[in-house]
Amino acid sequence: MSDVKEFSEQLVVKTAHECDVLVCGGGVAGVAAALAARRSGKKVILLEKSFILGGLATSGLVTIYLPLCDGMGRQVSFGLAEELLKLSIKYGYEGRYPELWLGREASVEERASGRRYEVQFNAQLFALAAEELLLGEGVKILYGYLATGVRKENGKITHVTVESKSGRQAIEVGSVVDATGDADICNLAGAECAIHNKGNVLAAWYYFVAGGEYKLNMLGFCDVPDDGNRSENKVKLLADKRFFGVDGEELSEMTEMSHRSLLNNLLQRRGEQPDILPVTIATIPQIRMTRKIVGKYVLDESEVHTRFEDSVGMVSDWRKRGPVFEIPFRALYGGDVKNLITAGRCISVTDAMWDITRVIPDCAVTGEAAGLAAAMTDDFEKLDVAALQSELCARGVKLHESEL
Ligand SMILES: Cc1cc2nc3c(=O)[nH]c(=O)nc-3n(C[C@H](O)[C@H](O)[C@H](O)COP(=O)(O)OP(=O)(O)OC[C@H]3O[C@@H](n4cnc5c(N)ncnc54)[C@H](O)[C@@H]3O)c2cc1C
Repeated sequence: MSDVKEFSEQLVVKTAHECDVLVCGGGVAGVAAALAARRSGKKVILLEKSFILGGLATSGLVTIYLPLCDGMGRQVSFGLAEELLKLSIKYGYEGRYPELWLGREASVEERASGRRYEVQFNAQLFALAAEELLLGEGVKILYGYLATGVRKENGKITHVTVESKSGRQAIEVGSVVDATGDADICNLAGAECAIHNKGNVLAAWYYFVAGGEYKLNMLGFCDVPDDGNRSENKVKLLADKRFFGVDGEELSEMTEMSHRSLLNNLLQRRGEQPDILPVTIATIPQIRMTRKIVGKYVLDESEVHTRFEDSVGMVSDWRKRGPVFEIPFRALYGGDVKNLITAGRCISVTDAMWDITRVIPDCAVTGEAAGLAAAMTDDFEKLDVAALQSELCARGVKLHESEL
């Protein structure tokens, strides 16, 4: 349908809030960005369209905080990535306790051959702990606020429009962190974006109880090639279709298919576990790689162990032991919009690299860097990157593999 009609919408939108740093999206990247900016003494607002923090990590039931280490016994992600891992289990955890990292002293050799520095947290406890921390530090959270538009002047965003129970309003901003996971703000602001070429497989992770046991069933375990192979592991695909995640109707269809897969799986399991009941199902679409910004730099998987002079932190490869990647500051922003920066799932990487940087610890690494940068300037082109790096280091972040 291409029919365009005029609607009696308000053309003049009331400015309801103003802040130095607006963080759009309250997933792990947004939580890290808001904390980082707030710790620089800025007035920070965090917008979240749902009513719980954590995004995919909590509402999406992705409760495995993947490794902060390289699998060879060396920790590579520090700062808020580590603080948020600890926060995720502050009030209790579900499994994979990193004994060799948090439980007792252990040698590099022992850590290299043992369990990596990761943990399975409880979604609800992580969300509650994150909210408590953010509010305690003075971040203003606006729940139930969807960012729907921007107003620009001289290449900068001056206002972000939001829809909430209060109707349509505007927020006056200094700088903006796009932590929506889908580069929504970049797209609305006209920054160059790209969609994942292949799209995503269907997932239907859910929690259940059966025989007194409480467990996560990871249906659509990881993003697999179409032949159903991922390295040596055979992984079953739930559907032939792939999803791209930036179309409203497609996301509705994906959600319905995911619910059907979940229900079929549950009913099948009834044969062996008659008392099985679902406890929690996802309340946001479980989709991995959707839209990203095309930044000043597009980081690729081949740049493993590469030193970047503008590195803002390091990440490992959750899929295998060994690789370490430095994240260049230039992968966080594009320059089309001077005061807009990205964090989390939507930073500037190739499709191959995306499967690495989309995971929780990496989102915290880029969230911290983006939030701090947004607190330092409203023109990222002019940012003093050395000053950003020095402040990140003061906060415990390590920038280069040579420092490990
Ligand atoms: C099936 C699946 C399994 C995965 N498994 C793992 C795993 O085991 N371990 C791991 O570490 N990672 C895993 N991941 C990846 C990881 O969970 C996510 O990529 C990561 O949590 C993303 O964080 P984020 O903050 O960038 O984005 P998101 O978690 O997507 O957060 C974005 C937030 O922004 C909000 N939002 C979006 N648009 C707007 C808007 N316009 N206005 C206001 N708010 C908005 C959303 O509601 C959401 O809360 C998995 C992902 C999937 C889908």
